[in-house]
Amino acid sequence: MKIVDFHCDVLCKLLLDERLTFQNGKAGALDVTYERLKASETILQTFAIYIPQSMNGRLEPILESLDRFHQYVLSCDEMVWVKSAKDLEACVRDDKIGALLSLEGVDGLQGQTPLLRTMHQLGIRAAGLTWNHPNWAADGAMEPRGGGLTEKGRLFVKECNKLGILVDVSHLSEQAFWDVADLTAKPVIASHSNARAICDHPRNLNDEQIRRIIGMQGMIGITYVPWFVSKEEVVTVQDLLLHIEHICALGGEDHIMLGSDFDGIDRYIKDLTHPAEVANLREALLKHYTASQTEQFLSGNALRFLSMQLPNE
Ligand SMILES: [Zn+2]
Repeated sequence: MKIVDFHCDVLCKLLLDERLTFQNGKAGALDVTYERLKASETILQTFAIYIPQSMNGRLEPILESLDRFHQYVLSCDEMVWVKSAKDLEACVRDDKIGALLSLEGVDGLQGQTPLLRTMHQLGIRAAGLTWNHPNWAADGAMEPRGGGLTEKGRLFVKECNKLGILVDVSHLSEQAFWDVADLTAKPVIASHSNARAICDHPRNLNDEQIRRIIGMQGMIGITYVPWFVSKEEVVTVQDLLLHIEHICALGGEDHIMLGSDFDGIDRYIKDLTHPAEVANLREALLKHYTASQTEQFLSGNALRFLSMQLPNE
């Protein structure tokens, strides 16, 4: 069974430490590696450009991250760059590993819409307006004042819609989420967020938000960040299943995908510590769902969504 994963932070690690390599690297240095993507039968991995707070707010680190993507990721034999529905189709047909680029926080674009168009030209196909903190576009999920979108943030969402960049609501404040939901002409994604009813964390989605994403035909990437899954000391794959069950109960069976957050976390769900261990999640799912449902969660839903939402060419 193929896997699609909509969020990992491996580019951030490659940005911070040039000695790391994506292929044939030092054991344990990265969660997501070329070898593990192959072993896990990943058909598509989204690579987020996340800039650490100390370097954030400038364009250069974003461009450097793009360089790492080309140097380390796309240089691997079976990796192919997915920028369009046509690329995705070819990737599935030829049984390659697709790589999609997303931007996690637009701080470095400094409110300039032309730079967003440049990002699209450089292959960015999904973008979250903020990380956890506020910026020129919106307030993030951890900002106590809980503001929504700024005027520039609104322009940004409209431009994303026009360009064919998916808007990612995962890190937004709740108010900013609703501002985006009211404004967007295209379905949004929450690339790596779980259900707040199961684990009460500001990074998770409440039932109203989940229903709204489902209603607009958007997607929710179930994430393996242990503290978004459960408050328990040891978090298991079974705990993760509760989030899937909850979203299904709200009518979201066709709107569930995966958004691991590998390489963005330093604690893990037990037996779910890198892409090859997604096999353990698959086994657990198969005990509760049919093979076809399991396949939809692991890849089918995401592939169907992307084939409709990515630019054609
Ligand atoms: Zn994140």
